[in-house]
Amino acid sequence: MILTTGLMRNAKVMPEKEAIVDGEHRFTYAEFAARVAKLKDALAQAGIQKGDRIAALMLNDFRYIELLFGVTALGAILVPLNYRLAPDELAYILTDSGAKALFVHRDFLKALPFLRENALSLNHYVLVDDDETHEQLDSYEAWISKAKEQPLSYSPDVHEDDVAGLFYTGGTTGRPKGVMLTHRNLVSNFYHTGVLTGVSSHSRYLHVAPMFHLADGTSMVSITIVGGTHCVVRSFTAKAFMQAIDQYKVTSTLLVPTMLNMVMNDPDFKKYNVSSLERVTYGAAPMPLALLKRVMREFPGIQLMQGYGMTEASPSLTQLTAEYHVLTGEEKQERRLLSAGKPVLGVEVRVVDEEGRDVPVGQVGEVIARGENIMKGYWNLPEETCAVLKNGWYHTGDMGAFDDEHFLYIVDRKKDMIISGGENIYSPEVENVLYQHPDVVEVAVVGEPDPKWGEAVVAEVVKAAGSTLTEQELIDFTRGMLANYKVPKRITFVAELPKSGAGKILKRNIRDRYWRGMTRD
Ligand code: AMP
Repeated sequence: MILTTGLMRNAKVMPEKEAIVDGEHRFTYAEFAARVAKLKDALAQAGIQKGDRIAALMLNDFRYIELLFGVTALGAILVPLNYRLAPDELAYILTDSGAKALFVHRDFLKALPFLRENALSLNHYVLVDDDETHEQLDSYEAWISKAKEQPLSYSPDVHEDDVAGLFYTGGTTGRPKGVMLTHRNLVSNFYHTGVLTGVSSHSRYLHVAPMFHLADGTSMVSITIVGGTHCVVRSFTAKAFMQAIDQYKVTSTLLVPTMLNMVMNDPDFKKYNVSSLERVTYGAAPMPLALLKRVMREFPGIQLMQGYGMTEASPSLTQLTAEYHVLTGEEKQERRLLSAGKPVLGVEVRVVDEEGRDVPVGQVGEVIARGENIMKGYWNLPEETCAVLKNGWYHTGDMGAFDDEHFLYIVDRKKDMIISGGENIYSPEVENVLYQHPDVVEVAVVGEPDPKWGEAVVAEVVKAAGSTLTEQELIDFTRGMLANYKVPKRITFVAELPKSGAGKILKRNIRDRYWRGMTRD
């Protein structure tokens, strides 16, 4: 099955079903497929061929979904760009991928002069905007309107194992790497998770996390396959999120923990009607337990689900499904809330030691995985690919442990683990304790160089507005809940923490400030 298979089916079997709603724009499956067919034709007329790379520098927009299907229907490859990147980082990715065309939202036009000079592979620029008049740029709607009216059809030379998307990840140290995901990879994620997440044609899914990141991007595929409705918000704010749920009668969505945190800290979060919301998936980063419990208490009627995975796994490896999100006060059940759940259907997940041997239950090792969801490799990086793909097993770089019921606990990134006096300290464990303080809004725990212990635990904390909490009070708060060597030696209060475009806290950036070029190894 290739990406367009589901769209072509739904255009035939449910042509009048609402496929997309984005502000004033509403399309049925028949209209959605017709626009994708035209986009495919417009791309072909512009000389785009199978294997060519087409980049998107866009906020969330229904046209992102059209691009994914239009570009890949032709056998070309979509390169979604993180719009928070600096112009030279964007130029690097565009050059590395050899992108021929760039679809750009009006908001990012100021990067264009730089990109024109520095991303030399680009020869088409297409403006994506509702008001699309621009003297120097082609317009998306003009492109589509000029294209041939025809049914969406299969291109004879597009196959399941062709690369469909290049998703750039990493890059907080070193250059970002392009993760090659095939049609088969992206479609497999739907089969691996769809049953567990309960997506159906009844789903009205809100794209509010950035579409360029696969945590949300994968729903472009799954919602289209099942014939659900895509609801689109340009970019996340707590208010935009809550308004959209009410306006579009959203039934499901995905948020990363920092977004959920912002919702819970918005003074108006109870003012909106979110009664249509049935299911919220969270994940893509560790979820603080105190925040999770608060969400469960405030929204008892909403089913919560956690997803753990990474771009290289298209992205899901494990899920903590709704049935485990209950507050009974029972110790075993509370502990499960700290886990990332169980492997999704059809994906093998193991925890191994340095020699690749499975470690016993309860023991921490590296999480590795195998399945149809695992990437083809990193774009033009054979050595980096060999370093993580060994005999078909993808080595995630995450440290974790299984319990006796096969719940997986992710304890830290291998590289983020703090090693102090020979003890491994997993920063999320310390963060979870700090989050229990009522004045703590956001936390990042990292290791700093320490002459005696090798590394010492330090924390950066955003505290609630008006809070008088002091460093010493917060350090004292953690004593008794953490072994001495895990108690932060220093806590710095900051106005905000650095975040990735996908809303993840950039630990590596914080740690680099403490290490200033020194390395641990
Ligand atoms: P990315 O490829 O940008 O999605 O980043 C993937 C990384 O995010 C993983 O290797 C994990 O370190 C982290 N991650 C993703 N999901 C979770 C989760 N549910 N709990 C803890 N960490 C997570």
